[in-house]
Amino acid sequence: MAFDYDLFVIGGGSGGVRAARVAAAGGARVALAEESRMGGTCVIRGCVPKKIMVFASAYREGFADARSYGWDLGEGSFDWARFRSRLHGELDRLEGVYRSLLSGSGVTTFDQRAVLDDPHTVRLADGSTHSAKHILVATGGRPERPGLPNDHLGMVSDDIFNLEELPRRLLIVGGGYIACEFACIMNGLGVEVTQFYRGAQILRGFDGEARGLISEMMQEKGVDLHLGTNIVDMAPATADHVASAAVTGGGMAAPAGETSARSAATGGPVWVKASNGHEHVFDAVLFATGRRPNSDGLGLAEAGVGIGRRGQVVVDEFSQTAVPSIYAIGDVTNRVNLTPVAIREGMAFVETVFNGNPTPVDHDLIPSAVFTQPEFGTVGLSEEEAREQEAVDIYCTSFRPMQTAFAGRPDRVLMKLVVSKATQKVLGCHIVAPQAGEMIQLAGIAVKMGATKADFDRTVAVHPTMSEELVTMKAPVRSV
Ligand code: NDP
Repeated sequence: MAFDYDLFVIGGGSGGVRAARVAAAGGARVALAEESRMGGTCVIRGCVPKKIMVFASAYREGFADARSYGWDLGEGSFDWARFRSRLHGELDRLEGVYRSLLSGSGVTTFDQRAVLDDPHTVRLADGSTHSAKHILVATGGRPERPGLPNDHLGMVSDDIFNLEELPRRLLIVGGGYIACEFACIMNGLGVEVTQFYRGAQILRGFDGEARGLISEMMQEKGVDLHLGTNIVDMAPATADHVASAAVTGGGMAAPAGETSARSAATGGPVWVKASNGHEHVFDAVLFATGRRPNSDGLGLAEAGVGIGRRGQVVVDEFSQTAVPSIYAIGDVTNRVNLTPVAIREGMAFVETVFNGNPTPVDHDLIPSAVFTQPEFGTVGLSEEEAREQEAVDIYCTSFRPMQTAFAGRPDRVLMKLVVSKATQKVLGCHIVAPQAGEMIQLAGIAVKMGATKADFDRTVAVHPTMSEELVTMKAPVRSV
């Protein structure tokens, strides 16, 4: 049977665009449909604008430090509107780059929503249908609100980049990547940030000592973090709420009248009741309570594709669904929800389907970074995970780095290696420090290669740096 295309990709994010480009470059006839902006979550409403905001927010401490280094600076202030317009200019530029990469590779693009009609046919929003030998679902995910009454009053991470003005007081709900990153960003930009996390410590699943230090440092820098606390009720703030919050809520309640002038993306101040009974009024609430795969309404289940309990498209190690012609990659499969992983999955898909070389994606030992302040770079097992599996030696040091210590700041960094007692292999490396993301990329190579503690030790230190401690830790702090 003759198909219109060899490949139809649904979703123009990092994974979909890469797969489309590489397949087309290899000679396949490829089409791609995207209902929103080309570039997807990473480029338009995730990693890229977030990282630029991290840079913007770090200047406040940088300016303070500069004075300690002898620079004479004025007070300075942050102009959100000016920054936002430059940020959006950059996102427009990047979207243009993505579009030209696609057209340059010969991919036909459709700026429309696409759904499946059958295992070989895609229907676009304009009603047209297109047949393809293979269909790749790369529709990503979206932020999920917690399901509370009135939770539409809160923003999600997508909304942050379009705020008309910065809120004066912001509540962030959640303790994962997005909650912690935005708590630090907004705090750095001068917003009063309160964070509620329902668990005992933020960044669940990561190394305990690293989480502890990040949590302490975030609080030290001004984030009002409440652990074991959740939001139980919310409503548009009324004068009564403001008055009652002032009685029960301690320092966080707004004086009557002060909130009305403030409105964020949500359209006005919000009254919030916490699980500890306290009531507060915030100018805005951000729900960073997880993300959900974009698998609804695509005709996937109807075509016979398996959908998991969290809404994820179920795939095998080659990203193939239960329907042989349909594959899925990236966040919609809810495997490891990171841009570089989606890209790898896209490349492996092309290798498997178009180059006759079945290639599973290796999801083991993926280095990653959380862009909190301080930053967190991590690869491999946490101490808690490793000790469940085998006996381990823990090498760990925490100290005040030269740059901020000189400026009189109390910041501490942490370097930690989790080492197998039996094989002496480094099972995990965890770094809490400025630029930890840059460091872990390199340490990740060694860990992925199976380096032992002795391999780290015979590498000469680069002096004076923070990361030299990774190769100079002599004795384990404990064996567990
Ligand atoms: P996460 O799943 O990491 O965190 C969700 C947080 O919300 C958790 O702390 C969770 O608590 C809490 N939560 C969930 N439901 C509720 C609820 N009903 N009420 C209160 N709290 C709730 O999601 P994120 O949205 O932060 O990030 C999504 C994914 O995006 C990440 O897993 C990561 O893969 C990716 N990402 C990566 C980044 C990076 O690489 N730097 C940056 C941003 C995102 P609990 O722990 O108790 O479940």
